[in-house]
Amino acid sequence: MIPERCTFCKGTLHEGKTEFIASETRSSSSKMSLLSVCDHCDEVYYGADVSRKIEAVMRGP
Ligand SMILES: [Zn+2]
Repeated sequence: MIPERCTFCKGTLHEGKTEFIASETRSSSSKMSLLSVCDHCDEVYYGADVSRKIEAVMRGP
């Protein structure tokens, strides 16, 4: 899950997206809101669905 605040610097998170996520989600559905980026340290947080997708991609077919 995406925390309300950055767990590293307690900075504010804002919605964001990466090209990696965009390419992965483009064909199925747009889930850009499941990604948050810290305003302060640029730490990226993924929602549960996106994390699962990335795991699948990393593991390969
Ligand atoms: Zn941060």
